[in-house]
Amino acid sequence: RTAKLLPVKTLEGFDFGFQPSLDRERISALAQLDFIRRSEVVHFLGPPGTGKSHLATALGVAAVKAGRSVYRATLAELIEALNKAEREGRLAEKIRFYTRASLLIVDEIGYLPITPGGANLFFQLVNARYEKGAMILTSNRGFAEWGEVFGDPVVATALLDRLLHHAVVIQIEGASYRLRRHADLIPEH
Ligand code: ADP
Repeated sequence: RTAKLLPVKTLEGFDFGFQPSLDRERISALAQLDFIRRSEVVHFLGPPGTGKSHLATALGVAAVKAGRSVYRATLAELIEALNKAEREGRLAEKIRFYTRASLLIVDEIGYLPITPGGANLFFQLVNARYEKGAMILTSNRGFAEWGEVFGDPVVATALLDRLLHHAVVIQIEGASYRLRRHADLIPEH
């Protein structure tokens, strides 16, 4: 296996000037990591390219530096792994594995359709972690759209009930950093 030589995402490497809707102080406060001690859920919401994954990863890096265990996956990866574990009769074990990390980062909620049963599996995981461990979630979709995202309004409501109980919601309104040099190509809304 080749090592993943990805550029490390840090808070120092984040250009707050590019994203004026974002309160730098709130992010610095999160970097103190009290949300992990309190088993809270941090939501980063906003359109693609606005730095949600970057900030989630940077907080994860800060947590690792502080000696915390962190696990990060996209929602699609997580559900695929839970599906596989269920097929192999190891679901409880897999959920325990994801529950053990002090911080679980679930990236990219809302991009890919959830496979049948996927919402249910994710709910089981969230329920297992609820009030026991911190999470950071990133999504391009508002909470009102979660019924559609998870293909099941009842499970979506139950998920949100737990994920918004002890939660910090950071909404980023802004342009995509990926497209910053192509502003002329982006249609005006
Ligand atoms: P999102 O998760 O919101 O779709 P990402 O966090 O993946 O967006 O950001 C897309 C790319 O742009 C990444 O390479 C990220 O490091 C970079 N990026 C986004 N916003 C900023 C910023 N304000 N300063 C520096 N790099 C940024």
